[in-house]
Amino acid sequence: MSEQRSQADAASWQGFSTRAIHAGYEPDPQTGAVNVPIYASSTFAQDGVGGMRDGFEYARTGNPTRRPLEANLAAIEAGAFGRAFGSGMAATDTMIRAALRPGDHLVIPNDAYGGTFRLIDKVFTQWGIEYTPAAVNDVDAIRAAMRPNTKLVWLETPTNPLLNVGDIAALAQVAHEGGAKLVVDNTFASPYLQNPLTLGADVVLHSTTKYIGGHSDVVGGALVTDDEELDAAFAFLQNGAGAVPGPFDAFLTLRGIKTLEVRMERHCDNAEKLVQFFTGHPAVEKVLYPGLAEHPGHQVAATQMRRFGGMVSVQLAGGKQAALDFCSRTEIFTLAESLGGVESLIEHPGAMTHASTAGSLLEVPENLVRLSVGIEDGGDLLGDVEQALEGL
Ligand SMILES: *Cc1c(COP(=O)(O)O)cnc(C)c1O
Repeated sequence: MSEQRSQADAASWQGFSTRAIHAGYEPDPQTGAVNVPIYASSTFAQDGVGGMRDGFEYARTGNPTRRPLEANLAAIEAGAFGRAFGSGMAATDTMIRAALRPGDHLVIPNDAYGGTFRLIDKVFTQWGIEYTPAAVNDVDAIRAAMRPNTKLVWLETPTNPLLNVGDIAALAQVAHEGGAKLVVDNTFASPYLQNPLTLGADVVLHSTTKYIGGHSDVVGGALVTDDEELDAAFAFLQNGAGAVPGPFDAFLTLRGIKTLEVRMERHCDNAEKLVQFFTGHPAVEKVLYPGLAEHPGHQVAATQMRRFGGMVSVQLAGGKQAALDFCSRTEIFTLAESLGGVESLIEHPGAMTHASTAGSLLEVPENLVRLSVGIEDGGDLLGDVEQALEGL
């Protein structure tokens, strides 16, 4: 039998997939199980009062399926500490409560994920937290939105659903100069395409429901940081507020991560094919994809991302009705919210994921359609959008 791998090895693994497949876990010494067992146990026997085995006491505090996932998430995001949550929104909620107090202020993207905007606008404002939306692709606008009481700059890049690109290194500097932390919601890029901590971000947030899980079969979230104090606050809130994933969720997420690199490569290949097809199509007024040379964020994206991702948005020349028709005519692309799974999805953000932004500064164009390009056969996907756009 080969020597046991240690966590120290993970730091020396250069290749993404080696870390994705091995970091955080080694074959069980007792049984040799090569995968993490699903420890369906809410409590753990103690050898005498306070005598915890391997640090486990109660499964809200820590669970032997969740712990390898957390170590793995840290490794694939090139961070020191990883924490897993019951959803991306639970991670978002934890991040805000760890970093902000009543009277504090944060800057958010003016095209933030709808759920992030809703939580801040409808819940946290009730607790005395103030926010200013600003364009992530405009460093000066973010700087201008900073106030003396700004404690957090919230960044998504690429953004959802407009695929604007923020310069992580430049915005980390802006945040730090203003005495704030930079958190990057890295859900759209995934840890394979972009590692914000290496560019100066303080925290990386994921909805692991999306690319990390990758199979549309589990909801989860993650926070990764090098900041020991923040990590302690995250752990305190995991235990104190309890928004943690169960062991089966942790297992599914770990299982998804193993294939993240191969899935992302295929997502990117297929997205590029579709972008090429949409560009110049008479029914398409505008293609939003950071891989396009004419995309305003292309240079920054090319610097900070490995490739440009599997999300493509288009604005249709025929307006809202054409957008709605396109969404209902595809056969392989399923009309559904969410993204990042192996199967292709299509949606109308204005009426679906971003309906809560209607009438606000964050409202999205009504002719906008968002595609989460899956890993099916690229030719079949092209044929599907081609027939769906016919006559629009
Ligand atoms: C889905 C999503 C979230 C929220 O995550 P859930 O797992 O659905 O709670 C946050 N940010 C982005 C960018 C998302 O796409």
